Amino acid sequence: MQIGDMRIDALIDGEAALDKEGLYGGVNPPTEEDWAPYARYLDPCTGQQINTIGSYLIRYRDKVVLHDTGMGLDALPPFNGGGLRSALWALDVSPLDITDVVYSHLHIDHIGWTSQAGKAYFPNAAIRIDRRDWEHYSPTGYQLEEWEVAVTKADRDLVSVRFAPVAHRIELFEAGDEILPGIVALEAAGHTPGHTVFELTSRGEQGLLLGDLVHTQGELVEAWDLAFNQDHGKAIEAIERYRRRLYDTGLPFAAAHFPGLKWGRLVKDGATPSGIAYETVR
Ligand SMILES: [Zn+2]
Repeated sequence: MQIGDMRIDALIDGEAALDKEGLYGGVNPPTEEDWAPYARYLDPCTGQQINTIGSYLIRYRDKVVLHDTGMGLDALPPFNGGGLRSALWALDVSPLDITDVVYSHLHIDHIGWTSQAGKAYFPNAAIRIDRRDWEHYSPTGYQLEEWEVAVTKADRDLVSVRFAPVAHRIELFEAGDEILPGIVALEAAGHTPGHTVFELTSRGEQGLLLGDLVHTQGELVEAWDLAFNQDHGKAIEAIERYRRRLYDTGLPFAAAHFPGLKWGRLVKDGATPSGIAYETVR
């Protein structure tokens, strides 16, 4: 994807295959009929939703920015990871070249390559995190949520452990800050206390990195209620706000887990309950 001077490449680290029945709840959980428009994104053998895990690399001017750092090595099921470093080198980018790492939020599948075996993996990078997520997840006494317990090795995956080798390079930001030229951190709390959408602007062009605002196309188009959201009301409000903007503007966007980390846009479609449909863009 090209946005003005910004070259943005998806880096696939791994994936999580998830039973779609457990993903969404709320007052109106999606039915098989609701999933039907998105069947092409389900595993044809198991019917599971495939959530790709990885990063976006944003290169412009003298900046080499990594958005999230994937899962890392030796993940516990249903997560797997490990591809990120090869994906970087495939673009002729070394971990040493990364100037900035920016985080959508601090869940386990977004912070994995921050450090490995107690050493910084991007030793020259500034580490940029929303203040609220840092204050929520970084205390050593952080209490894991139920879904986190089964997938977390405490001596490796906790935020306090993962970020210890880079603690001296952390720069906290607030929602609304322009954290780098042309990259603005936008308020999108709900999935986590400080979950962030990034707005990329260059030469009059724009795109949004949605992070975990949504995990599937249906969640965005129909505002499905994800079981893992920390604040369900805020999360749904945020989805509806960004859905309106994306539909009104036709801006390209990428989420952190859409299959293949493809970019997409929202278009008019009278056949769907919301009148909106998702389509991929190059
Ligand atoms: Zn995630």
